[in-house]
Amino acid sequence: MKIKFLGGADVVGRMGMLLSHRNANLLFEYGMRPSKPPAYPIPSPPVDYAFLTHCHLDHSGMMPWLCGKYDTEVVATPSTVSVTQILLEDSLKVADAEGYPRPFDPEDIRTSLKNFIPMEFGETIDVAGFEVQLHSAGHVPGATMYEVSGEEVTLFTGDLHTLNTQLVWGAHAVKCDNLIIEATYAGRTHPNRTKTEYQLLQKIKEVVNRGGKVIIPCFAVGRTQEVMLILRDANYDMWVDGMGKTVTSLYLGRPEYLRSEKNLKRARNRFNEVRTPAARQRAKKGEVIVTTGGMLDGGPVIGYLQELKDDPRNAILLTGYQVEGSNGRMLLDEGAINILGVKEKIRCEVQQFDLSAHADHNELLDFINGCDPEKIVLCHSDNREALAKDLEQDHEVMLPKPGEEFEL
Ligand SMILES: [Zn+2]
Ligand SMILES: [Zn+2]
Repeated sequence: MKIKFLGGADVVGRMGMLLSHRNANLLFEYGMRPSKPPAYPIPSPPVDYAFLTHCHLDHSGMMPWLCGKYDTEVVATPSTVSVTQILLEDSLKVADAEGYPRPFDPEDIRTSLKNFIPMEFGETIDVAGFEVQLHSAGHVPGATMYEVSGEEVTLFTGDLHTLNTQLVWGAHAVKCDNLIIEATYAGRTHPNRTKTEYQLLQKIKEVVNRGGKVIIPCFAVGRTQEVMLILRDANYDMWVDGMGKTVTSLYLGRPEYLRSEKNLKRARNRFNEVRTPAARQRAKKGEVIVTTGGMLDGGPVIGYLQELKDDPRNAILLTGYQVEGSNGRMLLDEGAINILGVKEKIRCEVQQFDLSAHADHNELLDFINGCDPEKIVLCHSDNREALAKDLEQDHEVMLPKPGEEFEL
């Protein structure tokens, strides 16, 4: 069996992996990196089938290119398909707004939606001499690991979380011979999750009690819902803004992928949804605002910051990783952000909470031990070596570069 990464092996972003054996050619993920300028994977050849693990653009962002060019069929869960559609449509809007060429057009998105083969966890599909089974990957609702069975069993994890979060159950190990696994958090550990959630709630209480307002910038997919769930029993005047609202509705339309439909409904009912400019004005007078974008690079959060940034009683509580070059990173490093091209000082309190949706170093090791593979391929990471050194004694570990073909 031959493997070749088209991207996303030694970085987070623009994933794509070709698996070839005899006459079979399968593609796992085909994403982009929404950087400035955006980065794309190596062009894919025609394949028998593509498999998408989840909606995030670093995994899904170039599927329309593939489907538009070759009319490829793509396997994914229905939850992934519905959220992927809105992220793909949004990616074209972002490309237009930032003045980058579109890598595909809306017609290609329609082709990819038409070509999706919706499948559920536990189901199998026979493709070109392989049997492929879907398993939950925990990361976000609908996120899938693919178990590919032929002469050997190969597991492709996609993005992985083994911890039970408020939103989704954690992934379980699958016995395999070859394990192709993400390693985003290689070399890093998360603080205790329950403790982090408690600290977040305490901080919100402190800010509201001193007369301040809390802005919680969140990614639309997963993090918005996770934060709303953490706050589902709180009695503040709470507002949710941005694309996360739509994603919440899509998730509630596919409740079988949620840890608790009841809890997410309860959380949604506690929040006021911002749907009009007038509502946005009312939200600014509220107590807690959960809004996109998660790294402060755009979205409604900018409007809230313009209004609320100068009052030291207010607080910005970041809940996600802030990538190098993002406004959120600049806020943490310099206490300032770019608003419409002008660098502005932020005078309110800033704090960061780790609500990651990826397994950390030790959780990855536990998962790998449970899978008990002979060979391990590490990808989706810029720090793979940190994990490799803990595995090399008992396993054959591979750290391929994009474009390099190797035998499994
Ligand atoms: Zn992801
Ligand atoms: Zn990813």
